Amino acid sequence: MKKETKLSTKGIKNIPFLDLKSINRPFEKEINNAVRQVTSSGWYILGEEAKKFENAFAKFCGAKHCIGVANGLDALVLLLKASNFPQDSEIIVPANTYIATILAITLAGHKPILVEPDPQTFLIDAHKIEEKISRNTKAILVVHLYGKCCEMDTILKVAQRYDLKVFEDAAQAHGAIYEGKRAGNLADGAGFSFYPTKNLGALGDAGAITTNDNLLAEKIRALRNYGSGKKYIFEFQGLNSRLDEIQASVLNVKLNRIEEDNFIRQKIANRYLSEINNDKVILPPADTCKLDAWHLFVVRVDNRDNFRKYLLENGIGTDIHYPIPPHKQLAYREWNNKTFTITEQIHEQVVSIPLNVVLSENEVTYIIDKINKY
Ligand SMILES: *Cc1c(COP(=O)(O)O)cnc(C)c1O
Repeated sequence: MKKETKLSTKGIKNIPFLDLKSINRPFEKEINNAVRQVTSSGWYILGEEAKKFENAFAKFCGAKHCIGVANGLDALVLLLKASNFPQDSEIIVPANTYIATILAITLAGHKPILVEPDPQTFLIDAHKIEEKISRNTKAILVVHLYGKCCEMDTILKVAQRYDLKVFEDAAQAHGAIYEGKRAGNLADGAGFSFYPTKNLGALGDAGAITTNDNLLAEKIRALRNYGSGKKYIFEFQGLNSRLDEIQASVLNVKLNRIEEDNFIRQKIANRYLSEINNDKVILPPADTCKLDAWHLFVVRVDNRDNFRKYLLENGIGTDIHYPIPPHKQLAYREWNNKTFTITEQIHEQVVSIPLNVVLSENEVTYIIDKINKY
C-alpha cells in the first residue's frame, strides 16, 4: 500500500499505450515552421518537400529510389501493379499480418497464398514457403512484423530457385538493419507507411516505396499519378496516390530523429527482455536482425483479458496487434473455415505493452514491476 502511494506521488499512474501528442511535441516548433513554408510556397502536392524527402529516405534505407505515395496500403498495391504479373497470380504472404498486406494483393488483382508464421518470431516461416509455390506463384510479400526482420537469406534463396520477386512490407520496420542493410533495401522493392503511429509517423496519411530497380521506380512514379509520366499523357491506368507537401515537410523534420528514436526503443525493449521475469508472460525473441526497429513489444499470455485488465487497473495501457487474423475476417469470408493454427493461437494470446520514445526510465521500471507481480 505504502509503495503504491510512493509511486503515484512520482506521477507514475497513467501510462497510455501510445500518446501521439507527447511524441510530436518536441517537433512542434520545427513542424510549424515547415508547414508555414509550404503554405506560403503555393505548391501543395509532389513538390520540393516531397522530392527532398524521397532523396533523404532513399539514402536512409540505402536504396536507389524512393517514391512518395499517399499511404502504406497504396505503396504495396503500386509495387504489385507495377510488376505486371498476370491477373490472378499467386502471391505468397504470411497469414499472421495486418490485413493491409493481404488487401494489397487482392486490390492488385492477385491471389494471396497464406503461410503460417514461426511461433517464436511471429514472422513468416521461411521453411514453409516452398511447399506453397505453384506454377502461378509470382512473388513473396514478406512482412517485417513488429519491426523484426524476416529471415531474408532463406527467403531470397527460395525465391531465386523459383524465379520469384520478393517484396517487403516494411510498414513497421523503418530503420531495421539486417546483415548490414536496412529494411527497404533487402529485396526487389518495399512498401512503407508513415501513418502517425509508425516509427516514422506523419501528421496524416503518407507512404513510400523503395527499390533499386530503375524501371520499377519509373513505372511506380507514373502509376501513383494517374499513370502519367508527362503532363496529360497517360501511359498506364494508374491511381491517385501522391504524397502531399505538408506531410512530406513533417517527415523531413522527423526523419532526422528516427535513428536516435530506434535506439531508445531498443534500449527499452532490452530492459523488458532482461527484467520481465514472470512464467505467465512469454516474451518476444531478442532482435532477429542486427537492429530490430521494435515498432511494438508484443508478449503472449493465456487469458489476456485478465492481464490487460490488471495492467489497466495499475494505470498501464495496452493494445492488441491484432485480435482477429485476416482469414477469419468477414472481408475474406471465403477463407473463414480455413485453419492456420499458429496464426490463430498468436492472435488469441498477443498483448502489446507500451514501447515508445516518450516513456521515462521510471515508467519502464514501473511497467516491469507490475508485470512481474501479475
Ligand atoms: C500500417 C501498416 C500498413 C498500411 O499502412 P497505411 O499507411 O495505414 O495504409 C501495411 N502493413 C502493415 C504491416 C502495417 O503495419
